[in-house]
Amino acid sequence: MTIILGRHVGCAVVLGLLTAALPVSAEPLPVTEVAPGVFVHQGTIAEPAPDNRGDTANMGFIVGDSAVAVIDTGGTPELGQRLREAITARTDKKPVIVVNTHMHPDHVFGNAAFVDLPFAGHANLRDALAARQEVYRQRLTDELGTEAAAGVAPVRVDRPVAEELRVDLGNRILVLTAYPTAHTNNDLTVFDRKTGTLFAGDLLFVDHLPAVDGNALGWLRVIDRLERVPAVRAVPGHGPASVAWPGALDAERRYLTALVEGVRRVLKADGSIQDAVTQVAEDERERWLLFDAYNPRNITATFAELEWE
Ligand SMILES: [Zn+2]
Repeated sequence: MTIILGRHVGCAVVLGLLTAALPVSAEPLPVTEVAPGVFVHQGTIAEPAPDNRGDTANMGFIVGDSAVAVIDTGGTPELGQRLREAITARTDKKPVIVVNTHMHPDHVFGNAAFVDLPFAGHANLRDALAARQEVYRQRLTDELGTEAAAGVAPVRVDRPVAEELRVDLGNRILVLTAYPTAHTNNDLTVFDRKTGTLFAGDLLFVDHLPAVDGNALGWLRVIDRLERVPAVRAVPGHGPASVAWPGALDAERRYLTALVEGVRRVLKADGSIQDAVTQVAEDERERWLLFDAYNPRNITATFAELEWE
């Protein structure tokens, strides 16, 4: 009796220790090796919903001779854990840093699975995310339920990047670059010099209509700068796992130009924001996914941006 009880208690203690030390194991996320040592998980092009479990953004990791860098962590703590399992499945090198490309929850809510590591991000990221995190968490609860949104990590940016930061993973230098306001006011890219691969975050949308949560004119200026990055391929924040560089920027530039020029035309004719929403960038409709989800919002934001220029 005593032995059985002892075993039982012992078991419970061991299980408790294991639970504390290792998060519940999860199915590794599928990843594609888009260049040697560069792995990408491709999210679904959709709004977060129960059928995609919030898996709507691209994320990945880069393996150096001595360490691994994680780039974005997905839209829920569970997706972050599954990304971590994918890293373990692909390499025995350990992750040493997490880079968040910007504040949006589909890119950062997996951070919960990496709280033992330092986080790098744009110098504006901490304040921007702190101001919005509760709203984002509530929205995720509405979209996916209480359980999916439980355990979202507190905001942390341990390595704020004002302009540029270099990270050495062992015979592999990553260049992190912070940009002025474009998609958001805290966009950052990661360039792997070894393979010429640029993780563009949401400065690059492919197939998914670009979403303006910053400044459309600023974004067009950043595109001019990005175009000069000597990459051969890019990983967009939304779209395929890998696209040719810099050609992949063309469609995004065309849409943002149509957005700005269309809003200017309406303003010049003394039109209302409603006129703008029904008219601007309609020629782009068939060229993008989620056009109706984002075009009206982009027009509204750009109308406010250009109203006083
Ligand atoms: Zn975004």
